[in-house]
Amino acid sequence: MPGDIPPEELRRALHRAADLVADYVDGVGARDVVPSVEPGEVAARLAPSPPAQAESLESILTDYEELIEPNVTHWNHPGFMAYFGISASGPGIVGEMLAAGLNVNAMLWRTSPAATELEERACDWLRQMVDLPEVFQGHINDTASISTMLAIAAARHGLEGLEIRTRGMAGRADLPQLTVYCSDQAHSSVDKAVMTLGIGHENLRRIPSDDIYQLSLDALEFAIEADLAAGHRPVAVVATAGTTSTTSVDPLSGIAELCERHGIWLHVDAAYAGSAAICPKLRGYLDGWERADSVVINPHKWLFTPFDCSVLLVRDPDLLREAFSLVPEYLRTGESEGTNLMDYGVQLGRRFRALKLWMVIRRFGVEGLRQRLREHCRLATELASWIDSERDLEVMAPVPFSVVCFRWYREGLSGVRLDALNRELLENVNRAGPIFLSHTELNGRFVLRVAIGNIKTSEEHVRQAWELIRREADRLV
Ligand SMILES: *Cc1c(COP(=O)(O)O)cnc(C)c1O
Repeated sequence: MPGDIPPEELRRALHRAADLVADYVDGVGARDVVPSVEPGEVAARLAPSPPAQAESLESILTDYEELIEPNVTHWNHPGFMAYFGISASGPGIVGEMLAAGLNVNAMLWRTSPAATELEERACDWLRQMVDLPEVFQGHINDTASISTMLAIAAARHGLEGLEIRTRGMAGRADLPQLTVYCSDQAHSSVDKAVMTLGIGHENLRRIPSDDIYQLSLDALEFAIEADLAAGHRPVAVVATAGTTSTTSVDPLSGIAELCERHGIWLHVDAAYAGSAAICPKLRGYLDGWERADSVVINPHKWLFTPFDCSVLLVRDPDLLREAFSLVPEYLRTGESEGTNLMDYGVQLGRRFRALKLWMVIRRFGVEGLRQRLREHCRLATELASWIDSERDLEVMAPVPFSVVCFRWYREGLSGVRLDALNRELLENVNRAGPIFLSHTELNGRFVLRVAIGNIKTSEEHVRQAWELIRREADRLV
């Protein structure tokens, strides 16, 4: 019987892989953040067809080291300040590796008791850490996009008299138009959710935000009332706590109040900033989210857990289960075995993601995680103050957390010219190598964005970014 590789070969390969990973993580800061490869360059060096005969793991690992590792964009680099940082911290990497060895599928309690119960416990730890009420129950998905889609599906299932789970939406004259609301700053995953769920993209109401990019409550109320008057049926409001562009937080208490008044599901997208709530001083920014029906937080964004790990917390898990479970309720026995996590979403098979989250929380402790988030916020505030003190640079949005939006500015230049010069500034900063920034658009203007979130980003890296920005800004005109 051919079977797997011999145990001794596995052990050797794992030891080498451990060294590769430890060396990589230790040395990644010395590399350029973005590899200098052209499209197709990696593909050209990959064998066009699969090998007919076995190769040694040694030679495969050597190819990994020479071809793959140098040609990824280094998200684990302390100079990675684009998008939102993700960190595969040490404890998280170990958790991910151990999960691969176990290779369990946490679809039913029975198919992996420890994976199911650890997932429930780790999510409850996170709930306690961010100070959400005990009624919230969590489970882990791959991404916030999926978590948000599941939340809107549960909201839709909760609408009485529509029976969409059974009868679908197509060809039904009896269905009202269903509507979902979010701000013009909300993440595109909300668009994808309404597209996927058959609610329709044009039934997503993008409500204008104000001058600091928070959803305008009056405009939301107006939109909901207009839809109700027209006979439409509001399904959910998706409020954002930490928008992707500027990390602004929608007026959560006001939105919660409005949703309660009209019986509309409130989902809070806190993919990035939800983690901040572990810090007592930052928790106030999230006030009101405890009144939501569902909340998503991504520990893979700002809680040092390797990608992927998104926690969806819901107030009424039974409703979420009813939306997706295919086990008839009458077959459920009182003394059921335990939670079957497959009942809370679309996928049957589920990775053991809780292991890495549990290891990260235990290894750093809540206080250790707080210190790291506070330091990121301090560095962002510091950077914003350096930018603010320059005549030709301006901070473009408030900095509640660890993201700074700014641009280069000079009186008398047209908007188009300013955009072009800021685009050039971004390209020149990124071309240098040690720092990687991204951009966004605010009120039609091109804006650079510095997101501090990598666990190894220190004051030295932020100073380096600042010096690079200053130097390239001086060379602009
Ligand atoms: C990053 C982000 C998302 C999408 O996250 P995924 O986990 O990649 O799907 C959604 N909402 C907000 C506010 C985000 O910052």
